[in-house]
Amino acid sequence: MELAAFRTALDQWLDEHGDALAPDRPQDTLDEHMAQLAKVKRLTFDAGFMRFGWSERVGGLGGSPLLRAYLGEALTTRDLVEPGIYSMTETLAPTMVDYAAPALAAEMVPRLLRGDETWCQGFSEPGTGSNLAALACRAVREDSGWRVTGQKVWTSLAQYAQRCVLLVRTGPVESAHGGITALFADMERPGITVRPIDTLHGGPEFCEVFFDDVVVPTGRLLGQEGQGWSVAMDLLPHERSTALWHKAAFLQRRLQDLLDTVAEEALDPVQVGETVQLLAAFRARSRATQHQLAAGERLGPETSVDKVLAAGAEQAVFDLVEAGLAVEVLLGDGSSASRWRSEYLFSRAATIYGGTSEIQRNIIARRLLDLGDDR
Ligand SMILES: Cc1cc2nc3c(=O)[nH]c(=O)nc-3n(C[C@H](O)[C@H](O)[C@H](O)COP(=O)(O)OP(=O)(O)OC[C@H]3O[C@@H](n4cnc5c(N)ncnc54)[C@H](O)[C@@H]3O)c2cc1C
Repeated sequence: MELAAFRTALDQWLDEHGDALAPDRPQDTLDEHMAQLAKVKRLTFDAGFMRFGWSERVGGLGGSPLLRAYLGEALTTRDLVEPGIYSMTETLAPTMVDYAAPALAAEMVPRLLRGDETWCQGFSEPGTGSNLAALACRAVREDSGWRVTGQKVWTSLAQYAQRCVLLVRTGPVESAHGGITALFADMERPGITVRPIDTLHGGPEFCEVFFDDVVVPTGRLLGQEGQGWSVAMDLLPHERSTALWHKAAFLQRRLQDLLDTVAEEALDPVQVGETVQLLAAFRARSRATQHQLAAGERLGPETSVDKVLAAGAEQAVFDLVEAGLAVEVLLGDGSSASRWRSEYLFSRAATIYGGTSEIQRNIIARRLLDLGDDR
């Protein structure tokens, strides 16, 4: 299906099914957001819309990834899903399509698309967030698979997840990028302990995950043994492409909500102008990335530009929220105040999640501008 026809059909369907798609209860907790996400994914999958833009090999209906970009934009703009948790699919499913054994991808991806399952991304460890290549969670090869021991941290949604795209060390640290392997682990295996971490913004968005002699079967290899660094380098740009387009739609919506809520004179026009400009620049850049993806081009380090712009725009929008709604954001009661406060506080993490802004600037300098060592 072409984008224009998809948009028309989807918008009409969303208009007609607004009541069924709307949250059953106020969205005050992460549990409530997760329940709403599962419902919306199930309804959009069963109606076919969630399957467009994904390959028939994994239960999709084919078509351009632009269809996925528009679906997430429409759901986010209508406040039907929270974009951060919705877009985990955009980060993790392409890796399964590209690197899992075809039968495994065909079995698993539809479960994620339909919201029957949640997956998480086990990359960061205590001491190795930015310096991912130094990760220490170890996997030892045995006849039936790998035995994994170690710890991950900041693993978003691990407490809800049935599966984990997991990076482990299977070779010596000295071999750096060569000693890493990517696995697709079942979270319900014996030996896995998940501890949610409380956060300032109120939702236990991420967790510590401990692996104690956990067996991951042979068929759960993503790519080849020792190729995990390439898998990660292909996954991370996806975290900075369609997922960020959805974030942009969310920011546009919140900016509009703010402008609809506060009196014009309560805002500094220069700050409003700068925020609109930052958001427009981010959207323009992300739009180009969506078309790059749709053209079948491989995404790479240039998506670090998208991430830097996204972080700047997210913080600018919520700085404006803080300026316009200070008392409500910082001290107010009730669902609306709590939502603004939570989103404002979460925006402070925008320069950290998905790779920090400093690290993105290093990538831009070294890999795009050829300045200094490519480390
Ligand atoms: C909301 C949220 C969700 C997340 N979800 C996940 C997830 O699902 N899965 C997952 O694996 N991880 C996740 N993370 C972790 C995230 O990827 C890391 O926090 C991030 O990569 C930074 O790593 P770190 O926290 O170890 O900080 P560090 O790497 O210790 O960095 C600390 C500071 O030093 C700076 N710094 C470090 N090295 C350099 C350098 N070489 N040059 C310049 N400055 C440098 C950093 O920019 C940062 O300001 C999440 C994080 C957040 C905030």
